[in-house]
Amino acid sequence: MHTNFSHEQLQDPTIARADAMLRRCVHCGFCTATCPTYVLLGDERDSPRGRIYLIKEMFEQGAITPPITYHIDRCLSCLSCMTTCPSGVDYMHLVDLARVRIEHKGRSPGERTTRWLLAKVLPNPRRFRVALLFGWLARPFRGLIAKLGMKTGAAALALTPKGLPHFKLRERKTVIRPVQPPVKRVALLLGCVQEVLAPSITRAAIRLLRRHGVEVVMPSDEACCGALQHHLGREDEAHKAARRNVDAWSGALREGKLDAILTTASGCGTMVKDYGHLLARDRGYAERATDMSRLAKDICEFVYELGLLPPLAWTSLRVAYHSACSLEHGQQVGNEPRALLSQAGFTVLEVPEGHICCGSAGTYNLLQPELAGQLRDRKLHNIANMTPDLIATGHLGCIPQLQRGSGLPVVHTVELLDWATGGPCPQQLEKLKSKVHPIESLLHLAKNAELR
Ligand code: SF4
Ligand code: SF4
Repeated sequence: MHTNFSHEQLQDPTIARADAMLRRCVHCGFCTATCPTYVLLGDERDSPRGRIYLIKEMFEQGAITPPITYHIDRCLSCLSCMTTCPSGVDYMHLVDLARVRIEHKGRSPGERTTRWLLAKVLPNPRRFRVALLFGWLARPFRGLIAKLGMKTGAAALALTPKGLPHFKLRERKTVIRPVQPPVKRVALLLGCVQEVLAPSITRAAIRLLRRHGVEVVMPSDEACCGALQHHLGREDEAHKAARRNVDAWSGALREGKLDAILTTASGCGTMVKDYGHLLARDRGYAERATDMSRLAKDICEFVYELGLLPPLAWTSLRVAYHSACSLEHGQQVGNEPRALLSQAGFTVLEVPEGHICCGSAGTYNLLQPELAGQLRDRKLHNIANMTPDLIATGHLGCIPQLQRGSGLPVVHTVELLDWATGGPCPQQLEKLKSKVHPIESLLHLAKNAELR
């Protein structure tokens, strides 16, 4: 793409970086076919190519117009376009630069307040628990709140779990050792929202790792990964979270070798894998951040390399695997979760249009509830056509998003792997237990049949 930046403009490091990224785009338009918002809306300005033009215009003219903000805000950051692009356009970092600029100079007071609240509440488990309590009390007034035009509030209430949040903070061990001498040692990022909404995922991950002989370290001073703030364009807060985690893992590294830094929420994984880029200009952190990014792995990548233990049960359960965008496109981890679920005995079903986002996308389903709802319905329609028993995914954000519109249970991939290799049945799957049989009892039946 031809750009028209002046020499003075290019002295600004942000513009110089944007210029290099913009120039890689050759306008071919291949990315439009796989962009969820373009597929839904058919508007070039809601396609990757159209947004790249808008970003170029914004940086060249130094003006943030309402249409620019409107169409950039409608981008999910699903990164499907990066998987498709033959020219290697770094759309992820380009749209990040645009978001930071918009956040600084292009928001109304109302938008600022909403985004400030989201950035302060969601990544903080204590505040998030209190917010959930208010959400639980306000649920009956959701219709009224929607009528008053408070669309983010109404969307948040729709996603609020029906039960009261757990207020008892769980006792947190910082090192969990396997029964046998450890074969590996990893740091596990607990995350923020997941620890409040679905702590069962982390517990399943710890059991799974322990069973495979892995020592799990969870530094007490680690923080939220910073992805939520980053996607809201709040760069300083994201950097602060990243620096805190780099320090926490550096402490764990001083106590012994770390084979990996694991994440169970793929949105966090994409973020941690990008810490090297995020802190590249921070002298005190750049090198260590790059080291941490190299160590970062999604839990399925790690268990796949380690080799999954044989399953203890035979199951006829049909699992629709919803590949979260942050895992499929952000980390390019597609095969491992599917292969692990198959090895664990499940029948894995490929969801048609699997590359299209479910609409969750961090805070997207709160800030763009109409589009998020359309994407969710489209995804669930594709899933329902395959008549699965359940849905599995590798990112917490997709779970309430899909659960809200589906009668099928939605679980995290690690909960299934843990169950298959000896862990408890995930609570959501209690009704499906009859479709799972211990392998020992099947062998016993087969032996009896042979004797007869
Ligand atoms: S990140 Fe997703 S929504 Fe945004 S332009 Fe790329 S494909 Fe479209
Ligand atoms: S596929 Fe890549 S090069 Fe082609 S228009 Fe899209 S971003 Fe530009």
